[in-house]
Amino acid sequence: MGLNLIDLNLWGYKINVMNIAIRLKNCPSCKSVNLFRLNGVSYENEFNSMTDWDLKRKFNCRKCKIELGLFVHNISREEKMVWIDMLKCEDPYHKYLKILQTSKEKFKNRSQKYYETLDEINGIQNKIKLDKIKVKIKNKIINKGMFIRHVN
Ligand SMILES: [Zn+2]
Repeated sequence: MGLNLIDLNLWGYKINVMNIAIRLKNCPSCKSVNLFRLNGVSYENEFNSMTDWDLKRKFNCRKCKIELGLFVHNISREEKMVWIDMLKCEDPYHKYLKILQTSKEKFKNRSQKYYETLDEINGIQNKIKLDKIKVKIKNKIINKGMFIRHVN
């Protein structure tokens, strides 16, 4: 959900301002809406799996406080809200998984090598899944802690 067109009312003149750098995005974790402004700066994007994307904004969700990144695709300008800790779970394996997928294609004859590679891929994907669950649980515990502090 990008908000590129804004109606401004200046001294009685209604002005459409194109491409004003305001965005309304839902947090991928708690779904609450975050309103923010792009400041024209790109942040350092150290993620192997996001090489075609610019990291345009980094901030913490106003509600659940997780770290979020707004990535914009170099060519299509598609925008993606990413939970940074989730990306960190899968990103280190990105290159190696690609290599394994290519190898698997080569061993299409269902040889021993094919199954070994498939096993390795599944092992890595399971590890990523588990790491993501850990992040979610950790996030829930932190938020619960905040809630309890709030009540007291
Ligand atoms: Zn949130």
